[in-house]
Amino acid sequence: MQKLTSTRRVRELLEKHNLKPRKNWGQNFLVDENILVKIVDAAELSKDDRVLEIGPGLGVLTMSLAERAAEVIAVEIDQGLFSILEQNLADFKNVKLVQGDVRKLDLSRLCRESWGEKDFVIVANLPYYLTTPFIFQVLKESTVALKRALFMVQREVAQRMVALPGSSNYGTLSILCRYYTEPEYLFNVPQNVFFPRPAVESAVVRLVIRQPKLDVGDQSLFWELIKGVFQMRRKTVLKGLLHIFPLSRETGEEILTRAGIPPQLRPEKLSIEQFAKLSRILYNLRG
Ligand code: SAM
Repeated sequence: MQKLTSTRRVRELLEKHNLKPRKNWGQNFLVDENILVKIVDAAELSKDDRVLEIGPGLGVLTMSLAERAAEVIAVEIDQGLFSILEQNLADFKNVKLVQGDVRKLDLSRLCRESWGEKDFVIVANLPYYLTTPFIFQVLKESTVALKRALFMVQREVAQRMVALPGSSNYGTLSILCRYYTEPEYLFNVPQNVFFPRPAVESAVVRLVIRQPKLDVGDQSLFWELIKGVFQMRRKTVLKGLLHIFPLSRETGEEILTRAGIPPQLRPEKLSIEQFAKLSRILYNLRG
């Protein structure tokens, strides 16, 4: 039997089951053996590791993960693909397949049910539409049990994930990734390794989870502040602040000065530490 990294095999399987790749679920299947190996290598798995895979598709990545790790749980939304997946993975006794929408699942609970408090790794060739909300979902809800995540995402999203202050790619996603993890941009992935070929290029990013060290006063206030100012990223941080919170201009300026932030600065210039300090001051003020 031909491997799942063959375009011909993927076409055959889909045709046999009367399926077409669904754009709305970002179904671009990986059909390149070299990239597959590179991704699995980058996951740095050992035989003790537990892996949660999102969007296994036909199971190309799932099989390789199952060969390297102790156990794999894979969540696939598409009922049609799911039945092919069940057949393809029938011999892999260390794989548990879950049919459902990852956005509606309590992932911590799903992993706890199988693995208790043991840690796990997430690996996913993410559908484009899901990337940003999923990373938010995982990192913000994430339990201490998630130790590492390896994501293949749109190249432009990968650049945003690792961006530093001062870069035009720097924003809420960059802060989210750096707040909870050590993000690392690993390698680019061209369009021609997928079937069907996507419109944009991809990249692989590794996030190594670490416990947040910064005191932000209050988590929800911190994220409200960051999302709010970056919604107005072309405006000054003062304008952003006044837009989010009911403050007078004088108070806004005073708060920013106390935080050591020039009020006319654009949000993309601010470090996470500066946002944390600002959030602490706002929190104490609400007190
Ligand atoms: N892992 C396969 C590969 O590398 O060839 C498929 C990757 S494809 C980019 C994305 C996969 O995610 C598809 O199988 C799609 O059906 C699935 N998917 C899309 N939205 C999902 C969701 N909300 N929950 C779970 N799976 C989803």
